Amino acid sequence: MIVILDSNATENSKEYQQALDYLSRLPGIAARVHKVQGAQQTLTEIYLIGDTKTLSIEDLHALPGVERVIRISEEYRILGRHRDEQRISGFEYNGVKFSQDNLNIFAGLCAVDTPEHVEIMLKALHERGQICTRMGAYKPRTNPYSFQGHGKSCLPYVFELAGRYGIKVIAMEVTHESHVAEIHECLEQTGQPTGVMLQIGTRNTQNFELLKAVGRQQEFPVLLKRGFGITLNESLNAAEYLASEGNSRVVFCLRGVKTNMGDPHRNLVDFSHVPVLKRLTRMPVCVDPSHSVGTRENSPDGILDLMHTAVQGIIAGANMVLVDFHPEPAKALVDGPQAMLMSELDWFLEDIALAWQCYQQRQKLAEQHQYGRL
Ligand code: PEP
Ligand code: MN
Repeated sequence: MIVILDSNATENSKEYQQALDYLSRLPGIAARVHKVQGAQQTLTEIYLIGDTKTLSIEDLHALPGVERVIRISEEYRILGRHRDEQRISGFEYNGVKFSQDNLNIFAGLCAVDTPEHVEIMLKALHERGQICTRMGAYKPRTNPYSFQGHGKSCLPYVFELAGRYGIKVIAMEVTHESHVAEIHECLEQTGQPTGVMLQIGTRNTQNFELLKAVGRQQEFPVLLKRGFGITLNESLNAAEYLASEGNSRVVFCLRGVKTNMGDPHRNLVDFSHVPVLKRLTRMPVCVDPSHSVGTRENSPDGILDLMHTAVQGIIAGANMVLVDFHPEPAKALVDGPQAMLMSELDWFLEDIALAWQCYQQRQKLAEQHQYGRL
């Protein structure tokens, strides 16, 4: 069960203390306080964990300072979308809104290699009004002898260049808790020129200690990739780990699942799950066509499979797209064969805009038809 307090029942108020005292004394039930940072105010949600079946919603609602009480199912307590759900969804980070109703594009380098390539990428994005990107500094690789990313040594120039070109959020994978501290320190040393969304890669979706560590910090939001060999339910529980530790600013990313049934693509594209995620949870949903498709092949219509796939996600209502670009794919140190070319950036952005317009029209159509049925 979740007990949501009035926005004016703040930590020092009498109502807050009275409600919390009462809830903490309920036998066999643990009360856990969770703060939700909205655009205007901070809300307090108190999670009641244990056997709550016998508790009455009316009794709890009558407590001082209580605005609403929600009985939730066992799954995805914090990030899930429960019956009669009215809790806010999405969040704002460094001036950028992430929700189930808007779209952000994160085009960029899979792996940072040289400052020159970073600058070409960021300048091109800036010239097209883009304020988000992806830049990998810590790369989890299948082969231990492959390039592992430049790590913290590239952070200063990545952050400074991002600041210079007006980039507000960089999606950056972390594979260890210490990377979060390195990112934090470097942002501080460079004067916070940009923001970072910490990415948990598909190989770490069930790295529970990493999830807990990233969940404990409140500074950075998180982009969690679906695990490529586990069920959707298992990946959603991984997202819930982040939230249960205190960080509910989570975007969930579909990136294909590993099976040779997806051949000749690198993975089997799973973007039909976009609406499923929006129904089951309140998280904004991201699609990653690059790691799903993994090649630059195109079909007789001249459109890259990568773009066909990206558009399939957007037309189904995805809220973020994470995509690999590179100024010289032949020289890229990671995933060159799936990188889009700088000369394709305008085309890609226009194609995505078209798909987003189409999604909005589809929403209107659904409204009209639903009204027709009433
Ligand atoms: C990536 O986005 O660079 C990446 C390694 O993705 P994934 O974890 O989905 O393989
Ligand atoms: Mn990659």
